[in-house]
Amino acid sequence: MVFLMYHEIESPGRPLCQGAPGYVRYVVREKDFRAQMDHLKHNGWRGVEVGEALKFDPSTAALTFDDGCATDLLVAAPILREIGFGATFYITAGFLGKPGYLTQAQLRELSSLGFQIGCHSMTHAYLSDLDEAGLRREIIDSKNQLEQLIGKPVEHFSCPGGRYNQRAIAMVRNEGYRTLATSNSRTNSADTDCFELGRVPVMRETTLRDFESYCHGRGLWRLRIRESLRHIGKRVLGNTLYDRLRARTLHG
Ligand SMILES: [Zn+2]
Repeated sequence: MVFLMYHEIESPGRPLCQGAPGYVRYVVREKDFRAQMDHLKHNGWRGVEVGEALKFDPSTAALTFDDGCATDLLVAAPILREIGFGATFYITAGFLGKPGYLTQAQLRELSSLGFQIGCHSMTHAYLSDLDEAGLRREIIDSKNQLEQLIGKPVEHFSCPGGRYNQRAIAMVRNEGYRTLATSNSRTNSADTDCFELGRVPVMRETTLRDFESYCHGRGLWRLRIRESLRHIGKRVLGNTLYDRLRARTLHG
């Protein structure tokens, strides 16, 4: 089954959290998001949070949102509630209260509406770049902070920028999380390692036809080719230089 990965949802008249092309390509328009959710509903799918997705019921699709943008509560949550879907919102703890992101009160509200809250690190640092102390801050301190805010256990983690290594996996596994979600475009089954779950990105230019294919686990090879090209770029250039070049060369 598929775990879908969303980021900010663009709502008419509302400025985005960030404007770099590499960010905007992950921002889905509200009308497209609504069409995608309607498509699921009308075709017999149920959108569920990660905790429930681990039952791997083939009629479900896990809905996940990274970063903790205010549009999680203001745009996505009302649409999801209208059709009775669950979702997991992975929050970057250190972004709470920054312009465009959820405030602490909004995070509590999102949680009290029944949506699952996961952790997406403290500062959105790339885990593969960090030493032990850095990993502890991003994986453990962030979890503790989120749990204090919502008063519930935070048991699911997603990797900033989709980047991780074996040390990061080991810490997530040993510090009370039940799953780690990557940005690797593949489906998951009962045989999948819960600490390396695949997720399929829904992007600004994803058509409803692509979306439908992804939900059936089809056409993911195209996304994987793009991913491997990015991985090669990162390995050759290093994360920081790669991001800088990409921000400069990508248009749209
Ligand atoms: Zn992120």
